[in-house]
Formats: sequence, structure tokens, C-alpha cells
Amino acid sequence: MSTKPNLRLVLVGARGRMGQAVATAAAAAGATVVASLDDGDNLAAGMAAGDVVIDFSSHAATAEVIRLAVAARKPLVIGTTGHPAAEKKRLLAKAAKVPCVWAGNFSVGVNLLFALTRRATKILGAEYDTEVVEMHHRLKKDAPSGTAARLLEIILEERKLTAAALRHGRSGITGARTATEVGVHALRGGDVVGDHTVMFAGPGERIELTHKASDRGIFARGALRAARWVVGQQPGLYDMQDVLGLK
Ligand code: NAD
Repeated sequence: MSTKPNLRLVLVGARGRMGQAVATAAAAAGATVVASLDDGDNLAAGMAAGDVVIDFSSHAATAEVIRLAVAARKPLVIGTTGHPAAEKKRLLAKAAKVPCVWAGNFSVGVNLLFALTRRATKILGAEYDTEVVEMHHRLKKDAPSGTAARLLEIILEERKLTAAALRHGRSGITGARTATEVGVHALRGGDVVGDHTVMFAGPGERIELTHKASDRGIFARGALRAARWVVGQQPGLYDMQDVLGLK
């Protein structure tokens, strides 16, 4: 990947799985990590040196990361997931004061899955019962995944439904499935990097769109691509569809 050689990166969550994957991808692409920040470090001091801040830490850290990046006028790439919807809305408004790419998933394949899910939902409509199933490694702290959350947003938008339509797992005497509900199921186990399936079950047929990640390098390389792209953009919110030119 041809990351601008002199891009200076600030990593937040640097000791984590994704932080390490970004550092590895940056080294391979000739970008320089000028600050590796993690819980307990002085984020403000670390941020000063970089061209762009990449955050893969904890949802609890995002408000502070945004506050400091806005104060320092640093472009942002945010990959952290797990924010409650109302909090995310508030954070997005604040992040828009600098150029910010915010994506629940930085892989090219998953961004294609987003586009295919929108198209399939539009074509198949309410006659096809739609369920989202995701599986991740046993250490993942939030559920459903940020990618599943984005898939659900797309389905709800196309079906003109609200979050009240979501059914997170089912248990007990649930009654028959209604046409307007959208099921969500989060599986956890082993070292699964990230699997997502969107299922459309209709009369006499079933369509499944599946993406399986086997290496978190795909997210790291996507985040680097976003970092290179976001430097020099106007302040505002962007996603990987912008970075990849899919809009
Ligand atoms: P991890 O638990 O391995 O790493 C998180 C790191 O963040 C840890 O080192 C932790 O100490 C650090 N951290 C926690 N609070 C902090 C704070 N206040 N300030 C600075 N650092 C702090 O987790 P991970 O697997 O690397 O995932 C990190 C986040 O990225 C999660 O939210 C995960 O869902 C998300 N993720 C996003 C994508 C994507 O493409 N957008 C891909 C994979 C993971």
C-alpha cells in the first residue's frame, strides 16, 4: 500500500490488538508512528506531534480523544466501537469539527457488504425476513459489533423502520416472528476475527450475504488508507465509502 511516507501517526489504544496491527501496517507502508498512546498516558502531549490521530481503544475514551483532537486541530480516524446510539450521535457532532473518518469496519470487503446489503434490502423488501448474525473472538467486549450495528442501520433505513424493530436474540415464548422485526445475534468464541451474515428468508428461498475476516490487517490497512485520505480534507464526518470513492 502506498501510504504517504512521511505521514506521522498518533495511535490511541496502541497496546491493543488493533493498535499493534496498525503499527505493523504502518511500518510496512513507511508511515511513522510518532506517539503510541494507551490507557494512563498523557493523550494531549502525545497528540501534538502527529499529522493524524488513529483511535482503536475503548468507547469510554472516545469523548476525550475527540475533545483533544478538536483542541489540537488534528484530523481523526476512529475505529472504536461499542458506543450507545445517543452517545454516538453526540460524539459524531463533536468530531465533525475536524476532518474525521469514523467507521465501524475499515475493510474493503465489508464496505462492499454494506453496499450489497442496501441493494438486497431495497429489492427484497418486507416480504423477506431479515436477520443479522455476527461472530467474534471470545475477548470482544461489546455486542453487537460495530459492523453489525452499521448493517442494521442500513436495513432499518431501507425498510423505513426504527431501532424499536430490532430483536436482540430470542428466548422463551416469543410468539411468531412479525414482518417488521429485524433479528440480531452475536456469537462469541475462540479467536474469530469477525464474521457477519445478513440473511433474507423469503417464501421458498433464502439469500445470505456473508463476509469473513481472517486477519485484522485488513482493518489496519483500511485505517491507514483513511488516515492518508483524511489529512487535508475539510472538517466534517466521513466514512469508508468516502475514502474508497463508493459514494
Ligand atoms: P483491545 O482490548 O485489544 O485494545 C484496546 C486498547 O485500548 C487496550 O490496549 C486498552 O488499554 C486501550 N485503552 C482503553 N482505554 C483507553 C483510554 N482511555 N485511553 C487510551 N487507551 C485506552 O481491543 P481491540 O481488539 O484492539 O479493539 C479496539 C476497538 O476497536 C474496539 O472497540 C473494537 O471493537 C474496535 N475494532 C474496530 C475495527 C474497525 O475496523 N473499525 C476493527 C477491529 C476492532
